Amino acid sequence: METMSHAGRAAARRRLRARRRVRAVALLILAVALGMGAFAVLSPLLAGAEKASAVPSLVDQPPVAAALPAPRVEQVEASEAPCEAPEVVAALRDSDADALVAAFGGGESLRQAVLDGAAPCVRLDDPAMPWVVVNKLRPLDPIDYAPREVRRPAARVADVGLRADALAAFERLADAAAEGAGRIALYSGYRSYDTQVSTYAAQVGARGGGADALSARPGHSEHQLGLAADVVACGAWGCGDIYEVGGTAQGRWLAENAWRYGWIVRYEAGRSVTTGYDAEPWHLRYVGRGIAEAYQAGGFHTLEEFFGLPAAPDYD
Ligand SMILES: [Zn+2]
Repeated sequence: METMSHAGRAAARRRLRARRRVRAVALLILAVALGMGAFAVLSPLLAGAEKASAVPSLVDQPPVAAALPAPRVEQVEASEAPCEAPEVVAALRDSDADALVAAFGGGESLRQAVLDGAAPCVRLDDPAMPWVVVNKLRPLDPIDYAPREVRRPAARVADVGLRADALAAFERLADAAAEGAGRIALYSGYRSYDTQVSTYAAQVGARGGGADALSARPGHSEHQLGLAADVVACGAWGCGDIYEVGGTAQGRWLAENAWRYGWIVRYEAGRSVTTGYDAEPWHLRYVGRGIAEAYQAGGFHTLEEFFGLPAAPDYD
């Protein structure tokens, strides 16, 4: 390089500057290309974000969508096929009334299902179930039904008994009554079809046409179920008769508390247009705890109204 001329050095500087310009232009092109590439990649995302923010929020939507009914999947399952629920099937198989009420979610839910026609498996004429409705229009089925087992409670004034499920509930009721108001005792419980033949005949003999307000015809008595208990009030002096119960502390206690033990006062005063019977404050009917609770909570006075059945003031 020592030997290079002045002109030669000037030419070398020009070449160097030219190379630097070329490199700068190339860098500029590269930078622009990179920028465009980045934009090409990012632009759809940016556009998407813009689109997303352009979607109206739920509250901005027209009221039509908001007014559409919400899906009711669970309610449909609960109300349309309760009889297919495994707990219901098992309770029916075992004839376990308490389990059946529980499987329906309580007495009121069971009642509603029956009223809605959604529970064909809950038959109101099945004598095995404690809520079976027997009245002047609804004879027992079969008409000569007899419970499999009848047992005598400790508190009784005659050789009388109740069906097993009612008996256990009667023992609890009698214990609670003794504590709350005074002793009660079973005066009449299960009566067979044949017994009712003579009971009714005796009433007809004594009262003629008035017998039907006091005694059921054979096959139409709750006593034949073994689920009805005619009770008397007892004291230190002994036990009274059934016609006195309404005026005793025990009678008042029963009207207010029998439901707690699965019993209802079946024939209340002023309800004969529905039941066909005069007031019988001594005649208790076992319907099961869950049903009795719903009956009390709903303020019902007859089993017919409770299950939406026709009034039964007279025989057909
Ligand atoms: Zn009775």
